[in-house]
Amino acid sequence: MTDRHDTAATAGQVRDLHAFIAGLPKAELHVHHVGSASPRIVSELAARHPDSKVPTDPEALADYFTFTDFAHFIEVYLSVVDLIRTPEDVRLLTYEVARELARQQVRYAELTITPFSSTRRGIDERAFMDAIEDARKAAESELGTVLRWCFDIPGEAGLEAAEETTRLATDDRLRPEGLVSFGLGGPEIGVPRPQFKPYFDRAIAAGLRSVPHAGETTGPETIWDALNELGAERIGHGTSAAQDPKLLQHLAERRIPLEVCPTSNIATRAVTTLDEHPIKEFTRAGVLVTVNSDDPPMFGTDLANEYAVAARLLDLDERGLGDLAKNAVEASFLDPAGKERIAAEIDAYTASWLAS
Ligand SMILES: [Zn+2]
Repeated sequence: MTDRHDTAATAGQVRDLHAFIAGLPKAELHVHHVGSASPRIVSELAARHPDSKVPTDPEALADYFTFTDFAHFIEVYLSVVDLIRTPEDVRLLTYEVARELARQQVRYAELTITPFSSTRRGIDERAFMDAIEDARKAAESELGTVLRWCFDIPGEAGLEAAEETTRLATDDRLRPEGLVSFGLGGPEIGVPRPQFKPYFDRAIAAGLRSVPHAGETTGPETIWDALNELGAERIGHGTSAAQDPKLLQHLAERRIPLEVCPTSNIATRAVTTLDEHPIKEFTRAGVLVTVNSDDPPMFGTDLANEYAVAARLLDLDERGLGDLAKNAVEASFLDPAGKERIAAEIDAYTASWLAS
């Protein structure tokens, strides 16, 4: 009897926690622009370009988004990249991604954009910047979601891409107002971080914050490289930090946040199962952990689900979830007044939820 009662209570609590998370004001720090294209957005883009092989019918599209393996994921990702052909496509994608973030009560998001993918495909660079800025301003005034940009180097595209990304991020005539940071994505194996040092040096000198991906699929030495060579202020993923107690201590002492993306780590097999995810080791070591969604529709997740996963793995209640949301605010590159405003909103929401 007691067992059954406990189970029922637990199920109810889980339901409540989901409702709490749905309404919790949040900040998202690690989410990719093209990787956020939901089936709804992809179907709109595919309808604009009927010659593409991407289906427009929602049901067929849902099948298309069911990945068989990582190679299939890359194939689908690239076919979505192929749908971004004009500045109007860029604007539509950006604004619609903001709409989906707003729906999840995301008040502030740093969206990682790979401008090289678009300029290489012939989209005019000035028109590209205008398209994202136009979407950013509309999202802020119409949806109440503040967007900022991280321009990232697609590591697999080599130093030519690094040079082009750095130029786009640092040229005063091009650089968009919403740009705050500079990143490095793509595969880590065979793409040593130190080779990107000169590009990060230029970006940092131009006032951008350094947020490379590191330690997602390689060991802790990649994270050390990101810190020592690329001046990382936050680490994208940082999963393998758990293997190096000295590194965990360093991250905790210097208050260098990790952008943890649990479901992504399973999808890409960086971690075998959620229960083996090192997020608990990070918090135990005192590292500032933020929870993020990476490429949400492609990994069958969203930010709310990542909070639910973290709640389970870290055994968090409403207050714990509120603190987790405030970690992201603290780790963000928002100005102090903006940080204070969202943190206060999180506190007010949590207090009124617990009082009701
Ligand atoms: Zn990422």
